[in-house]
Parts: sequence; C-alpha cells; structure tokens
Amino acid sequence: MLKRLFNLIPNRATVKRQVIQREHHNISRKNISSAAIRIMKVLHEAGFEAYLVGGGVRDLLLNGHPKDFDIATEATPEEVKGLFRGARIIGRRFRIVHVRIGREVIEVTTFRASHTEANHAKEAQQSDHGMLLRDNVYGSLETDALRRDFTINALYYTTQGFEIHDFAEGTKDIKRRLIRMIGDPATRYQEDPVRMLRAVRFAAKLGFKIDAKTAKPIPGLAHLLRNISEARLFEEVLKLLMAGSATATFQLLQDYGLLEHLFPATASSLSSGDPLAAELIHQAMINTDKRIRSNKRVTPAFIYAALLWPPLCQELDKIKSQKHNQKVPDTVLQQQAAQTVIRQQLPHTSIPKRFQIPMREIWDLQLRLPNRHGKRASGTIEHARFRAAYDFVLLREQAGEDLNGLGDWWTRYQDANEKGRLDLVEALEPSSGDKKPKRRRRRRKPNAQQNTANNSSPGNQEQ
Ligand code: ATP
Ligand code: MG
Repeated sequence: MLKRLFNLIPNRATVKRQVIQREHHNISRKNISSAAIRIMKVLHEAGFEAYLVGGGVRDLLLNGHPKDFDIATEATPEEVKGLFRGARIIGRRFRIVHVRIGREVIEVTTFRASHTEANHAKEAQQSDHGMLLRDNVYGSLETDALRRDFTINALYYTTQGFEIHDFAEGTKDIKRRLIRMIGDPATRYQEDPVRMLRAVRFAAKLGFKIDAKTAKPIPGLAHLLRNISEARLFEEVLKLLMAGSATATFQLLQDYGLLEHLFPATASSLSSGDPLAAELIHQAMINTDKRIRSNKRVTPAFIYAALLWPPLCQELDKIKSQKHNQKVPDTVLQQQAAQTVIRQQLPHTSIPKRFQIPMREIWDLQLRLPNRHGKRASGTIEHARFRAAYDFVLLREQAGEDLNGLGDWWTRYQDANEKGRLDLVEALEPSSGDKKPKRRRRRRKPNAQQNTANNSSPGNQEQ
C-alpha cells in the first residue's frame, strides 16, 4: 500500500547557507557550456532564480571536465517549457525538462521540497519500504539543496553574482575528498536505493572516500536494489562501468555487497573461488577503462558478455554432464545455457535486445573461432561481431585460459595478406582446435539426368 511521506529531512530552520564569492573559487564561465549559460540567462530574464548544480559544479571545482551541466530553477516544468522552443517535459517519478539548444540537451529541474509540504498523492508517493515513487513536490533553493544526495552534489553556482551557494558543507567535503550523504543515510537509501550505487560510483570516479556514516548502512540495505526497475538498473550499470573507473567501481560493488543484487549469478561465480572467473572480469574492467581513456568505443554488449561468461561456463558444464545431453553438439548446448543465464539476469537488470543479440554472437563465435580450416577463417573474419569476439578471445587468454595460441593466430591472420592467410591455415595442426572439414560427397540422385533436363521449370528455379 502506498502512503504519504513524512518528515525525512532536516527542518528548514537548521539550514545554513555559505556563499563563496567569485574570488574564492576557481569556476570560470569559460568552462561552462554555452547552452547552460544561455538557459540560465533566459530564466533570469523571465524573473526566475536559476543555478548550475550537481556534477557540473562539482567537477569544475575539482578541475575536471563535467560530463553534463544540470540546472535547478524555481520555474515549474510548464514555465520552463513555455520559455524554450526545444523543451520537453520527461519523467513521471521525477519530472524534469530537457532543453535542447543546438546539439546539447540540458536537464532543467524545478527546486524540490520535503514531502511534508505535499498536498496531493499525485506529487509525492512512498512505498511501504520508504521508497519515493513520486518526487514532484516543488520548493525553494534551500529545500532543494537538502533533497539532493551528497553534499558535493548540492553546490549551486549562479551566473548572476558568479558565486557558489553551499547549504551542506559540500565545498569542505570536496577539500576532504569525502562522499557524505545529506540527512540520515539509511533513510535516504530507503527513499531511493540507487543512491547506494551513486555513492560507489562517485567514490570510484573521483577517488574519494565514502564517509563512515554514509557507508555503514549500505551492506544491510543493498537488497533494496531488488525494488528498482530493471530498466533503471541497466542504465545505472552503464554509468557505473562505462565512465572510465570500472575497475575501482567493480571492487566497491563487491565490497559493499551490491554486486549480488545487480548480477547475482556473476557474484556467485566469483564467490565460488573460480580464479579464471575473477581474473576474466578484472581484466575486462581494466580493458574497458583503458579503452575509454584512449577514446575507443566500448559497448555494453561486450561488458555484459564478460560479466555473464563465468555463469555461462558453469551452466554449460552443468548441462553437458547430463546424460541425455551427451550427444548434443556444444553449439546447441551453449545456446541453451545462454538462454538460461540471460533469463536469470533479466529480473535484475534489463538487457535491451540491441545489446543482447551482439552479446550472444560474441559467445557463439567463441566456438567458431577455433575452427579455421579450409574457408572457415575467411568466413568468420567477415562476421559483423568478429572483432569483438576476437577481443573476447584475447580477454580469456589474458585471464589465464589456455586456448592453444588462438588469439595470436587470429592476430597474425588479420595482419597477413592473402598468401599469408593461406599459409596460416595450411600450417594448422589437425589438433589445433578443429578437424579438417570433411569433403562432402554429393550423392547423385538416380534421376539427376532428368532433373538437369528440366532445370528451367519454375519449381527448379526456386531450389
Ligand atoms: P554525473 O552527471 O557526472 O554522473 P551528477 O552528480 O551530475 O554526476 P546526475 O545524475 O546528472 O549526477 O544528477 C544531477 C544532480 O541531481 C546530482 O548531482 C544530485 O544533486 C541530484 N541527484 C541525482 N540523482 C539523485 C538521487 N537519486 N537522489 C538525490 N539527488 C539526486
Ligand atoms: Mg550530471
């Protein structure tokens, strides 16, 4: 049953505002996107307060490059929409406006308030677990600051006086390099369990420590992630693992017991003590971070293929050992195992079809890549997923799996000219992973002669 949310954040009277004047901080308008500046200007001119907030301010103070710029304003979503042609109101649980200026999309959020000020269930809803199902109670700058997650994310920069407004000692925590929750951490995690993932994400990305009081409730509340939609968790996983700090993030997810609620099968493969599993995932995270650092493409399909590979291998071993499967080809069994592993993952994080299909292709190709005789290698290299599958072979070898030099062979094959490729195939030992293809002898049909004579008939053309 749903109920209204009561007093969860400190009283407004307790809020202290610290204003940091322009000569005491390093934020310069030059480093802020022109779209964000423009939006604030339009809002100011229309008589509304508007501030840059969140990651934009935090990362500028840290001399980093903000991923995006978020704006908080007293204007309601409808009022914002009325001011910009390229504006769209999105979200139900948390209504925001996306304002498009040129190629940029800026999130504009109306100041929020505590739910005690809610008049209608339409604006504020909470589940039995204390989770906010709707968070659309509007308020002032002060109340907005206290509804944000961490102190370092609750800093507001204004282009009107070029000053920073700090209501939660966020600037002090930036100096102390600390992730600290605003308000009572357990209550705030119950309101929105995704904040546990955000704590870990910022700690890993910024190299900050999680404050002891903020960290303490996480292991005990990690199970609340099960109440979050699979789609939202999929998006969060991408933010966790595709932002350049996957290695540190993954470690923290394990340390805080969060992994087992995001990827239960992976967590259980890891806790079973399989060294290959741990190494494969560790290497996958390192490689992902390296690729991002060198501006190379990373795809969720590859990351998911790696995360679910140990459970896939376990499932495959299990069904292979079943008596009725003894004569079933590996390709068929692996398809079955893949289906089981994906089915078991989907209640936790969704995997959109556009990633599920290439992920399965990467897995399927693991069985095809050892088959290189005859024309097989030249066919496999043309596969749309060849490159990812080859990288996956390298990853398995990096993790310590002995694939009989398979990765190296494919590296040389890719670099070779036509003659070199033929030589590489010729040089393969029969035992190098596959057998020479059998010559298929066509069985002559007794009436073959007759068929040839008739091969201009419409029926034959179709064959
Ligand atoms: P980045 O964009 O670099 O990942 P960010 O801090 O800007 O980090 P966003 O998800 O863009 O994160 O959110 C913008 C701001 O909105 C945050 O800084 C925080 O103040 C607030 N916020 C976002 N999600 C939550 C949440 N679940 N609970 C409370 N506040 C939140
Ligand atoms: Mg942001």
